[in-house]
Amino acid sequence: MTLVRRAPLLAALLAATAALSATAMLPAAARDSTVVRDGVTLHFVDAGDALDAATQDAIIETFFATYPRQAADFNAGAPDTVRITIDPGYDGVAFVDDAAMTINPGWLAEHPRDIDLVTHEAMHIVQAYGRGETPGWLVEGIADWARDAYGLDNAAGGWALPTGIAPDHRYDSGYRVTGAFLKWAEGRHPGLVRGLDASLRAQRYTPATWTALTGRDVDALWAQYVAARAAE
Ligand SMILES: [Zn+2]
Repeated sequence: MTLVRRAPLLAALLAATAALSATAMLPAAARDSTVVRDGVTLHFVDAGDALDAATQDAIIETFFATYPRQAADFNAGAPDTVRITIDPGYDGVAFVDDAAMTINPGWLAEHPRDIDLVTHEAMHIVQAYGRGETPGWLVEGIADWARDAYGLDNAAGGWALPTGIAPDHRYDSGYRVTGAFLKWAEGRHPGLVRGLDASLRAQRYTPATWTALTGRDVDALWAQYVAARAAE
């Protein structure tokens, strides 16, 4: 009789224990943070916790260390609310659409120190050139110039602007090649990148913009750059 009375209690205890175990085995809570600093709001979402907490934190810290400075220097009208989504379904590295940045966690798994990709993408949010005709090589060149200028730890990511010029490099090669050219040209014509950026955002950029800002057309400026590099 005693056993008959105890059996339901034991079953209930076992069921409760099983339920606790199931709860404990669920994945950690997905990271969905809203962080506000100095008037900028960041929604950071890693719904599947594809990245470890240290990498999530590094992305958030890099964003706040670079985006507000880039916005202050280039575009006072840059968005004050930004979303970063970690998306394992995206097979590129990262991209920006308006004020939303998407990052592939698979890339960071292979390149865990490449956190300053956030700096490059943040500059795209600042650029906000709209959907008009903007030369992609210059858009990406400015973003890589900004990654070099504002990045927190590019060296850790093994990332640097090239210091040499390969035979196939041109001013419109884009990305780091254009970024290195912009860095050199900005050194001789302070404010050049700001001027290019402003003309792009105003949909007023033409090749003549280079002449207006530097006194030379871009081909002549590139030739000067190649000669200067060769003389180093
Ligand atoms: Zn880019």
